[in-house]
Amino acid sequence: MTRHQCRACRGQAGDLVLDLGEQPACDYFPKYDEPGPDPVYPLQMWLCSSCGLAQLLADPTVPEEPRGAEPAALVAQAEDAVRRVAAADLLPADGRVAEYGSPHGGSWLGLLTDRGLSPVEGTGEADVILDCFGMMHSPDQAAALAERAARLAPGGVLLLQYHSLDTIVRLRQWNALRHGHYAYYSTTALVAMLAAAGLSPRTAWSFDLYGGTVLLAAGRAGDSGPVSAGDPVGALLAAEERTGVTNPGVVSGLQGALTSHARALHRWLGAMREAGKTVAGYSAASRAVALLRLAGVDADLLPAVADASPAKQGLRMPGTTIPIISPAELRAAPPDAVLVFVSDLVIEIRASYPEIEAGGGEWVDADKLPADPSHDELTMLQAAPGAWPGSGPG
Ligand SMILES: [Zn+2]
Repeated sequence: MTRHQCRACRGQAGDLVLDLGEQPACDYFPKYDEPGPDPVYPLQMWLCSSCGLAQLLADPTVPEEPRGAEPAALVAQAEDAVRRVAAADLLPADGRVAEYGSPHGGSWLGLLTDRGLSPVEGTGEADVILDCFGMMHSPDQAAALAERAARLAPGGVLLLQYHSLDTIVRLRQWNALRHGHYAYYSTTALVAMLAAAGLSPRTAWSFDLYGGTVLLAAGRAGDSGPVSAGDPVGALLAAEERTGVTNPGVVSGLQGALTSHARALHRWLGAMREAGKTVAGYSAASRAVALLRLAGVDADLLPAVADASPAKQGLRMPGTTIPIISPAELRAAPPDAVLVFVSDLVIEIRASYPEIEAGGGEWVDADKLPADPSHDELTMLQAAPGAWPGSGPG
């Protein structure tokens, strides 16, 4: 077996910091009646000792999942981000823009052309190069960054947006680890990658998206550019130093987070079943796939997962026999609790499905189930005290 080589610096020294074992490809949603077992692949995070980049270890070349529904939170954040970048004088009105999009959607191109920038055709030079959750999908990180750097016009700005490893570690977001997501950037590792590509960071902004998302602006090393007040990049680096994002002993704390999350889910679903309560999941998101499998949850504990994407209806959750149902089916038979697998969706779906609470049901965030049975206070989204395990529908 050949040793893993860092996807950025090519170093071979590093540590396995998170191991989800064998998992189905999260993009592979089989038809409901398609018999298993579904193919599985190792899913592991490795932390480079040289440059600090956290990355997918094995590369089973799993195809990327199709675009899903774009959460309103993502759209709002894009508008906020473009406003902030413009306020920093980094969007020349007559500039050319190139976007490296994410396969999950969330293009900023419309917002940027509204400000007068013109999109570049093909692989031409651009004054603004935007990468919003795009580069993480490249197996060869050094090559992906070099390609972006090569297209950057003199005086231009590269905008990289990423869900930061600092957030993942601090908020114990072990399920950020996904097939097809090859890199999990800390600002620390990204600054080293930028230097290797002849770029240097200029400024950065932080957003609440996914618990903590960073938009980093970089230019060619040696270019002059607008100077930002304070030192936002330095502040991010200092915060990451405090967290210990390059310390394998710290990052591997995600393994313990996984174990307690999976146990909490199994325990909660078991308690609901014992209490005679009906439960459905919401959002057939890729992040739910590993959680359900690690928790040993199948259709006996979670009989269905609803999803708004018509493309996913009639399919089942990978590695399980749990069917994916339509929102209409959820409305037709509101369960006692809906377990939401994507926290960012909670506000909008709660408003979209008044039938659930009207029927006495409640919304439960799957990321906030109690970890310790001795502190069995469920994080209910329903404000009413004593709502759980309260009355059922009707
Ligand atoms: Zn490295």
